[in-house]
Amino acid sequence: MKARFNGKCVECNESIKKGKEIVKNSKGVWVHKHCSDVEEELP
Ligand SMILES: [Zn+2]
Repeated sequence: MKARFNGKCVECNESIKKGKEIVKNSKGVWVHKHCSDVEEELP
């Protein structure tokens, strides 16, 4: 989903800007889509 507010990605330690695509990782923490350790869509 798209971030509704600014935050911080715990994986890369960079900011998550409002409107960026984010996903929950295996710990239930919001991270950048490309930083997640969970595969969103399996083939
Ligand atoms: Zn990140």
